[in-house]
Amino acid sequence: MNEPILTMQQVGRVHGDGHTAVTALAEVSLEVRPGELVAVTGRSGSGKSTLLNIAGGLDRPTSGSVAVDGVDLARHSTTQLAEVRRRRIGVVFQHGNLLPTLSAIENIALPLELDGVSPKQAKQAAVEALESVGGAAFAERFPDELSGGEQQRVAIARGLIGDRGLLLADEPTGALDEVTGERMLALLRAACDRGAAALLVTHDPAQAAWADRVVRLRDGVIGSVVENTATVESSATVAGRGDRP
Ligand code: ADP
Ligand code: MG
Repeated sequence: MNEPILTMQQVGRVHGDGHTAVTALAEVSLEVRPGELVAVTGRSGSGKSTLLNIAGGLDRPTSGSVAVDGVDLARHSTTQLAEVRRRRIGVVFQHGNLLPTLSAIENIALPLELDGVSPKQAKQAAVEALESVGGAAFAERFPDELSGGEQQRVAIARGLIGDRGLLLADEPTGALDEVTGERMLALLRAACDRGAAALLVTHDPAQAAWADRVVRLRDGVIGSVVENTATVESSATVAGRGDRP
């Protein structure tokens, strides 16, 4: 029941080879269980996006293994991997990555429709998801008619829709003001409290305070892991977690 949703074992990722080889990740081991929100921090270039892409099956490790729901992603065919990504993994990219030819509401409904949910049900769920991020007013607009922050809210709604088991968010609130950013974090936290496992890349200590654990990457290696225990939580109260709805 409480088996990890995400298991990374000794994961390494080297880009290129020979003299130009860049080690983006080295021997990263990490487990995220249902209900857990894990923050990933570290300087620019420390491997945070690489870690998230590999966890979501968008990139493959050059060493080690990644399992989702206990199944090694390397054992899946391309079709099976696409299905796991659709059904089980919700991703919020750093820059939104909305499809330009679809309206906000269509972008949000798309993952459900691809998964076989009826268009009517998918649209209903998308309307609710967009309302949860405060975006009802721009449902019919296209990405190029939305501000950066509005696009980011649509991307968050799309990433959180459908009760997926594994949520991956790469600096999802960079274009948002502090209050809206906090509201988005509360949604991610609520999804975890309902049983999802999540990785959140963030530079912001106030956001990391919403996490159960904070993993710090340094040059592709896990430098430290800090549990947000009860003691830490009291100091984190001001920063956010204690304020959660
Ligand atoms: P972060 O998200 O923490 O800023 P990244 O995961 O994007 O870090 O990058 C980690 C390291 O890997 C950096 O040194 C970066 O330059 C390198 N890197 C990332 N993607 C590639 C790529 N496609 N080709 C070569 N090097 C890459
Ligand atoms: Mg990055």
